[in-house]
Amino acid sequence: MKFSWRNILLWSLPILVVSFFLWQGLFAPIANENNTNVANSRMTYGRFLEYIEMGWVKKVDLYENGHTAIIEAIGPELGNRIQKIRVELPVSAPELISKLKKNQIDLDAHPAKNNTAIWNLIGNLFFPLLLIISLALLFRRSNSATGGPGQAMSFGKSKALFQIEAKTGIVFDDVAGIDEAKEEFEEIVTFLKKPEYFTAVGAKIPRGILLIGPPGTGKTLLAKAIAGEANVPFFSISGSEFVEMFVGVGASRVRDLFKKAKENAPCIIFIDEIDAVGRQRGTGVGGGNDEREQTLNQLLTEMDGFEGNTGIIVVAATNRADILDSALLRPGRFDRQVNVDIPDFKGRLDILNVHAKNKKIDPNVSLSIIARRTPGFSGADLANLLNEAAILTARGRKNQITLQEVDKAIDRIIAGMEGTALIDSKSKRLIAYHEVGHAIIGTLLEDHENVQKVTLIPRGQARGLTWFTPSEDQSLISRSQIKARIMGALGGRATEQIVFGDSEITTGASNDLQQVTSMARQMVTRFGMSDIGPFSLENEDTNPFLGRGMGNLNEYSDEIAVKIDTQIKIIVEECHQKTLKIIKNNRVIIDKLVDVLIEKETIDGQEFRNIIKQYTEVPQKI
Ligand code: ADP
Ligand code: ZN
Repeated sequence: MKFSWRNILLWSLPILVVSFFLWQGLFAPIANENNTNVANSRMTYGRFLEYIEMGWVKKVDLYENGHTAIIEAIGPELGNRIQKIRVELPVSAPELISKLKKNQIDLDAHPAKNNTAIWNLIGNLFFPLLLIISLALLFRRSNSATGGPGQAMSFGKSKALFQIEAKTGIVFDDVAGIDEAKEEFEEIVTFLKKPEYFTAVGAKIPRGILLIGPPGTGKTLLAKAIAGEANVPFFSISGSEFVEMFVGVGASRVRDLFKKAKENAPCIIFIDEIDAVGRQRGTGVGGGNDEREQTLNQLLTEMDGFEGNTGIIVVAATNRADILDSALLRPGRFDRQVNVDIPDFKGRLDILNVHAKNKKIDPNVSLSIIARRTPGFSGADLANLLNEAAILTARGRKNQITLQEVDKAIDRIIAGMEGTALIDSKSKRLIAYHEVGHAIIGTLLEDHENVQKVTLIPRGQARGLTWFTPSEDQSLISRSQIKARIMGALGGRATEQIVFGDSEITTGASNDLQQVTSMARQMVTRFGMSDIGPFSLENEDTNPFLGRGMGNLNEYSDEIAVKIDTQIKIIVEECHQKTLKIIKNNRVIIDKLVDVLIEKETIDGQEFRNIIKQYTEVPQKI
């Protein structure tokens, strides 16, 4: 059986027929019983009430369980003749009946006789229809997934089940910045190359290795490097590809995958996004998912089924190990876990070195400066950064990547595409004040990161931007540093408030306020930095849509919840007051900075500080 537009047409015929009945059902009773000059004229409910007040309504007939009324009325607008008019009544209009009674208007309600028959018919047709529609959808999905017509019934046996690379061509030298993970894998490579070393002494090599880390940190790359170094084939599939089909397809794919892998052993099987299949069974919103569970069970069975050292190593990747089914982590399955984290400064430098190898870069560009400017970047971000810079260089017809292109590329990756600046207008001034507000707080507060530049050139969603030079060590942040950040984030709105007045403040601060609230909340619930005391009350993220998170959404009582809100309010309130004070005290400098910013559109950090230093001391202890 095949899915085609002809079939859709065939199936949609009954739908058309039914909708015709439905339509008839709604209107037929009225038309039948009042076939004398009815329903052509209509009146709103409000006007109808006025007519009642004026005593112009003579008779009211209710239809459709009181949703529609045909009234007989006389009035100046109706040429002083009695006319029948149709009125749609609001769903609940209980006062109407008493009003009609009070005015002694003749009232009659008509049961919808024909309707019941129609509804019975629809009821009978509903389930067959539902079945037909869902079948249609299923066939369409299976066709698009298995790659062509005529294969709907062949389930998992069709093409494109998984990717096979006979030679990945990736070696360990292509992977940088994640040295511990690499060491772990060197042993695996030895095993794949010389299994006899291990079998001779009765050692068993782990069958499964779980790589845990955020996207883009090089998990796939690492798995490919093992295959490349050991010179064995690389089988890969993504967990999400297992689960979007008919029940049973995922499991059959797993079987196929392992069958092929066994024929090609030794080899590496790489399963990306394993959390898509391997989530805790029977949890998550909406209960269990049969398909996923069957797939997971099949995977477990296959992994248990390797006899001794078959030479197949399953490498799986996820960024959420905490939601995985514990059965997956048992010995003999994914019992080795390796964390792959966002690289630190040295890691970033190493990764940049790897990706700079095949690019022409101006010798004046220091990769370590780039590494310093990019905390939080993953390996993939860094690779992307150098590539963007190379593209910009080619576009500018230059023959070497200079610092200028690198800077542009960093900005684009962090904040999105650059737009064009506004022409001078009130909103440009407002944005300028807002940004200068962020920047001046950032400059005056000793505990705040330094301003790198302030710009009115829009980027991504932002209409103006203040950039700060990130400090390298983001792992330990003090209370006063967080407060300084909160004040910096409040600086934009506070300046709008003081310069333009309370009624002129804009929606431009919504993102800032989100950050403010989140930082204050974390101070209270995660870092023990409030009067509640040193308690951890919330996890980093509790996501109700993912497995285990469900249970521990509320680890505290309602009483504590109220206290948390109060503390957040106290922190933000205090920071807001201080911020307003700084802005008020520095109004003259702010006006000056705004003039410069409007004229130049971008001020870099050093220049910004120099201007401020002409007026006041930087930084200040506040
Ligand atoms: P993940 O699987 O963790 O999401 P990938 O391995 O797919 O990340 O990384 C995508 C790309 O980013 C890689 O092909 C590589 O170019 C680059 N990359 C990521 N991490 C590293 C790293 N540690 N060393 C070198 N390049 C990396
Ligand atoms: Zn802002």
